[in-house]
Amino acid sequence: MIFSTRQLSLFACTSLLFCHATTHAKPMEVHARLAPQARAENKVALTLDACSGRFDEDLLAFLIRKRIPATIFVTKKWLDKNPRGVTVIKSNLDLFAVEDHGEKHIPAIIGSGRTVYGLAGEPDIAHLQREVTEGAKAITSTIGIAPQWYRGASAKYDAEAITEINRLGYKIAGFSFNADHGATLRKKAIVDKFKRLQPGDVIIAHMNKPQSDSAQGLSSGLNDALKQGFVFVRLDQVEMQKMPDQKTKRDKS
Ligand SMILES: [Zn+2]
Repeated sequence: MIFSTRQLSLFACTSLLFCHATTHAKPMEVHARLAPQARAENKVALTLDACSGRFDEDLLAFLIRKRIPATIFVTKKWLDKNPRGVTVIKSNLDLFAVEDHGEKHIPAIIGSGRTVYGLAGEPDIAHLQREVTEGAKAITSTIGIAPQWYRGASAKYDAEAITEINRLGYKIAGFSFNADHGATLRKKAIVDKFKRLQPGDVIIAHMNKPQSDSAQGLSSGLNDALKQGFVFVRLDQVEMQKMPDQKTKRDKS
């Protein structure tokens, strides 16, 4: 049988896609805690993601009132859509560090057709580079500081994406305590979670869904943490330690 050039190239593509699809490692979640010294001092870190969507002003107003520092991961998308949020953050840079959550909130997984939590990944490394560097540029031009940390959308990564993000000069911001599951948890569930907060935990939560229970749940949980003597720090004030429970199983995603 004789195939046309077009047919041959289609077969090659199909075959390449198949190979690609069967050799990708499962995206990993980077888990990290504060280094032992910080744990001994009862320190914990609050990190807040501003993915896309809106500005949860109630949550930031609570943090400002209670003088709780936080490390805020913003996308360019969020900065562009939330001028009020930008103003509040810029007025409180003694309390808030601002770090890179990308340009358009695209997960750091490489390969056409791959998704995580319904979000499509990047077709190639060049697109990942753009996501990381344009996110950083937006922070520098809007907030006036250069980010040091990167957290990808969905907080899941391919190993090759981690290598590239590190090469671009950014540390991956892991976490150990998922407080609001992407702003989907109800208030009581968030408050209950905080009963299990440990010294050294790096909390991840969201500040882009004011319609969720996150502000109420976090305010209550963080208040309890303060009463228990936890001390809040930003990621730029402490050393972090990676936890050895990253998932590296291979799959067909
Ligand atoms: Zn996000």
